[in-house]
Amino acid sequence: MILKQFDKLKEYLLQPRNIVVIGHRNPDGDAIGSTLGLKHYFDLKGHQTQVLMPNEYPDFLHWIPGSETVYRFDRQNKQCLRALRKVDIIFLLDFNAFHRVGTDMQNTLETMRCDFVLIDHHQQPDDFTYMYSDTEMSSTCQMVYNFIAKMGDKGMINKDIATCLYTGIMTDTGSFRFRSTTSQTHRVIADLIDKGAANDRIHSNVNDANSQSRLLLLGQALSNLQVLPEFKTAYITISEEEKRKFNYSKGDTEGIVNYALSIKGIVFGVIFIEDAEQGITKISFRSKGTFSVNQFARKYFNGGGHDNAAGGKSNLSIEETVKKFTSLLPNYANELQTSYATL
Ligand code: 5GP
Ligand code: MN
Repeated sequence: MILKQFDKLKEYLLQPRNIVVIGHRNPDGDAIGSTLGLKHYFDLKGHQTQVLMPNEYPDFLHWIPGSETVYRFDRQNKQCLRALRKVDIIFLLDFNAFHRVGTDMQNTLETMRCDFVLIDHHQQPDDFTYMYSDTEMSSTCQMVYNFIAKMGDKGMINKDIATCLYTGIMTDTGSFRFRSTTSQTHRVIADLIDKGAANDRIHSNVNDANSQSRLLLLGQALSNLQVLPEFKTAYITISEEEKRKFNYSKGDTEGIVNYALSIKGIVFGVIFIEDAEQGITKISFRSKGTFSVNQFARKYFNGGGHDNAAGGKSNLSIEETVKKFTSLLPNYANELQTSYATL
């Protein structure tokens, strides 16, 4: 855990400030929940707070309290730049390095003269003036809860804050089932329910938001599933053509990779998604046990993340990317065979 200059930050925040809070590109539940949860808290403390996101986020997250106040850097660029012009301090949430916000926003952030505060649970974070980094944490939302507690303001957590933070903890832990879920995670969740998070409705808002076309895309993805028992590996592909055929919208592929990992005996699950807009193949890696997909994604696919959940990309076609991937597996045969000991 790294906690850098916290007391100084606490003192700095005694005065009302203009604050911008930023999440990563392709924001997920933890990015949205943590940024908006922190915004609601700062607003209560008398600060002016604006949340900025590099690009759009899935429809199933649009119900989150404060969602309508978020500016997108790709679409509402003027509003974003206006907020950045008057900012005193910028909070970076749920990502570890500037490049995770995409090139355009990265270029802008690199010209900023103000101080940055990082609150994040990804491995190998870059260095910023103020930092709260903890790779043991289930989610950035759990860290925002801790941050508010460290500020001595746990009592200020209201229903909106609790709802935002509950959502991100829930989505980043796969509904409290991944290894990152600790007894402390459950204690935080219990407290958030006491403070007004309507857990049943949050689960329903996030999980029961399928369109028919999303389910049909899932059907296609599952019929593309390949299983390689000798490497305890399973992977799924989704092409641009398949996305078009099933009327793809943002978020439709979220979570599909977990089906690869749900096969008995599989410890390494991967999904390859063709992305014509960016001209890349986007990859999500998931593992069970000691096999680190963070290291694998960093080494071969220009990515990173956590030990058991990481992402990456490739400039090769989807077919070539899969070929590269399968050719790497023999090097990891032993590691994959021993990655997961059953109870
Ligand atoms: P997902 O597969 O759900 O997109 O991402 C899994 C985890 O890996 C998330 O924590 C995400 O922030 C991280 N991640 C995803 N894509 C990338 C990437 O291209 N680079 C890095 N460094 N991390 C990524
Ligand atoms: Mn996260």
